[in-house]
Amino acid sequence: MSEKILAINSGSSSLKFKLYIMPAETVLVSGQIERIGQPSSEFSYTIAGKKSKLAQPMKDYETAIQTVIETLLASHVIESKHEIIGVGHRISHGGRYYTKPVIVDEDVKAKIDELAVLSPLHNPVNLLGIKAFEKLLPDATEVAVFDTSFHHTIPAKAYMYALPYSYYKDHGIRRYGFHGPSHEYIAEKAAELFGKQQTHRLISCHLGNGGSLTAILDGHSVNSSMGFTPLAGIVMGTRSGDIDPEIIPFIEEEFQMDSHAVREMLNHDSGLQGLSGISNDIRDLDEAAKQGNQRAQLALDVYAHQIQQYIGAYTTDLEGLDTLVFTAGIGEHSALVRQMVCERLGYLGIKLDPEKNAANALSIEAADSRVKVAVIPTDEEIVIARDVMALLKEA
Ligand code: ADP
Repeated sequence: MSEKILAINSGSSSLKFKLYIMPAETVLVSGQIERIGQPSSEFSYTIAGKKSKLAQPMKDYETAIQTVIETLLASHVIESKHEIIGVGHRISHGGRYYTKPVIVDEDVKAKIDELAVLSPLHNPVNLLGIKAFEKLLPDATEVAVFDTSFHHTIPAKAYMYALPYSYYKDHGIRRYGFHGPSHEYIAEKAAELFGKQQTHRLISCHLGNGGSLTAILDGHSVNSSMGFTPLAGIVMGTRSGDIDPEIIPFIEEEFQMDSHAVREMLNHDSGLQGLSGISNDIRDLDEAAKQGNQRAQLALDVYAHQIQQYIGAYTTDLEGLDTLVFTAGIGEHSALVRQMVCERLGYLGIKLDPEKNAANALSIEAADSRVKVAVIPTDEEIVIARDVMALLKEA
């Protein structure tokens, strides 16, 4: 029996989706809507290899989802809304509550709402997406797939912050880790491609606009660079990553900024954008650095250095390293970043083949590299669709 399942990945003003036939995992449609809530919203989608675009204002998530469903009907990908039996939503923060995906009910929605304080950029829009689908596809089962749950195997010594214990016990303040579906996909795909022995000790580098590294032992997360929220860890497009916590009260007092303004600065004006003053996009920084722009070069240097530091740290968690994987927008496409990251890691037995790296090949290590280095495109949506199927079977 084949089933149609939608996988939804909603961002602060965007919505990406794939419609699958499961369990065959055939993608019927993939698409994304950008700039929801602005007059310039745009819906782009691909059906059977044919790309289409629709530029029309979409005032909110419900309108955006309505447009997606109408397009699926008009293009005869579905003949009726009832054909879609399950919708899986990527949810940013599952906090202490969720170590695996769950079918959405009133309690789940209340908890996603409660956890919005921990992920203010994502949990509220994730919830809007769920509510809009409940209204527009009332017969489908909604499933929540949490970014945090893959990391529930991180041991206490790696997830505890050295704050008074009550902050952890009473308020759940600890490292959670994010990008779970992506790191899970990478762990599974790498094991499938290279075998279990070669991927026994693996570091997954998810380098997109947001970025995180995860140390994975035999398929299980044992440490991850994001923390209590997705702001922690490496430098990102516009997020600061790790900083000395004392900087925050200093800025608040020195510049009379309230916590909202500081949070905005740390999330939107920092990272590669803040360092370079040019762009959050590696392609722009590469271009500018080649023209001699020193701040663009500085941003690239800091970025690569922080990734190197996490790789070094995670080889301790893993007691060595067998495979290093690069994924997401930067990891999959930027030979420059991969080369900058790997060039000082020879002491770990990492050596790149420059030609394979330049070609974004699957395996980019040199013949005499002790560690395998791979470029694997991530696929968060297939993890979500598989999770939906598994829960539908159980129900
Ligand atoms: P998100 O976290 O928003 O899903 P992506 O994983 O799509 O982000 O990554 C987006 C980033 O990937 C861009 O900001 C850019 O820095 C980088 N990127 C995308 N394509 C390329 C490319 N061809 N070369 C270098 N960097 C790229």
